[in-house]
Amino acid sequence: MLLLNPGPVTLSEKVRNALTQEDLCHREPEFAQLTLDLKQRLLHIYPEIASSYDAVLLTGSGTCAVEAMLASFIPPQGKALVVANGVYGDRLAAMIKAHGKPLEIITSPWQEAINCAAVERCLQQDRTITHLVTVHHETTTGRLNNLALLGQLASQFNIPLLLDGVSSFGVEKIDFSAWNIAAVAATANKCLHGVPGLSFVLAKSTLFQTQTSAANSLYLDLYRYQKAQITGYSPFTQAVQVYYGLQAALQELEAAGGWLARQKSYTKLAQKIRQGLQQQGVKLLLPESDYSCALTSFMLPPYLSYFQLHKSLKKAGFIIYAGQGNFQDKIFRIANMGNIQIEDIAKLLDCCSSLFKN
Ligand SMILES: *Cc1c(COP(=O)(O)O)cnc(C)c1O
Repeated sequence: MLLLNPGPVTLSEKVRNALTQEDLCHREPEFAQLTLDLKQRLLHIYPEIASSYDAVLLTGSGTCAVEAMLASFIPPQGKALVVANGVYGDRLAAMIKAHGKPLEIITSPWQEAINCAAVERCLQQDRTITHLVTVHHETTTGRLNNLALLGQLASQFNIPLLLDGVSSFGVEKIDFSAWNIAAVAATANKCLHGVPGLSFVLAKSTLFQTQTSAANSLYLDLYRYQKAQITGYSPFTQAVQVYYGLQAALQELEAAGGWLARQKSYTKLAQKIRQGLQQQGVKLLLPESDYSCALTSFMLPPYLSYFQLHKSLKKAGFIIYAGQGNFQDKIFRIANMGNIQIEDIAKLLDCCSSLFKN
C-alpha cells in the first residue's frame, strides 16, 4: 500500500530495517548517545540555527510537540495571538484555551490566506499580546502560509513567533531569524520520513537559559526534557525503536542533499500530480502557487463521492485523504510525503484516468 495521506508516510527499506536494531534501555548511555545524535541532526537540517537553538525530543505525535511548545512558552500572564486558516490553526487556539491561557484568534476562511492586515491592526491596538502563533503549511488545504509577511510583523513588533511546522519541516524554507521564530514544533513521520511516535520542538536556547517553564503540565513540560536531554537522557520512557527509525531517515535526508534537495523532489512529484489530475478534468481548490510542495487539495467532481474515489484507489494500492470539516464532501487531498517515486505517481494517474470524466 502506498500512503498518499499527510503522515504517517510510506517508509523506505532502510528506515523499516532500522527498527530491528538491538533493544535499548532509555536510562543507558547508548540511548543517550542516540538522543544526542538525533538532536544534532535535527538542528543541522537548517544549519543556520544549529548553534543558537535547542532540540527537544518527545515521544508522541506532532500534536504532542505543538501542545508542549504552547504550554511551556506562553506564560499564564501572557497573551497569544493565533492566526488561523484551517483545522490545525483552530487546534492551536483550542490547545491554548485548554491550558487556560489568554488568547485572541484571527481566522480566515479555509481557502483564503492568513489575514496579516488584521494581525497588524491587532498588534497596534493590543499591546498585551506576547506571542504570535500560527501554522506554516496548513494541511487542511495544502496552503503554505505566507510567513514572510507575518514574520515581518513579528519582527517589527518584537513578538516571538511559535510555529506549527509539523507538515513543512524538512521541505520548506523556514527563515528563523527574519520571522522572529522562538520555537517550531514538528514530527518524525511527515516530511522527515520517520516512523510515527516521535515529535520535537526546536527552540531558541536563550528561552531555556533566561526563562522558566510556563507549563501547567508535568508531561508536556519542555524545560524538563531539555534539561535532561543536555546529556541525552529523558525524564520518561521514550519510543526507542522510533528513535532508530528517525536516525535512519535523517541519514537518508542528509545523503540525498538535505531539505532543499527534498523540496525539489517533492515539487516534481506534486507538479506531476497536479498536472495529471488537471488534465483529467479535476480542479484545484487553491491557486497552484499557493500550495506547499507536500500536498494538494482537489475539488471532488459532482459525479464522484469521496467514498467511491477512496475505495477504488485503495483497491489499486493507494491511500488518499479526505477533506475535513466543511470540506469533507467538497475536496480530496493527495500528499506526496514519504518514500514515493515518480513512477508511483504515474501509476496513480493511470488508475485515476478511469475514475474521472475528462
Ligand atoms: C499532521 C499535523 C499535525 C499533528 O498531527 P498528529 O496527528 O498529532 O501527528 C499538526 N499540525 C499540522 C499542520 C499537521 O499537518
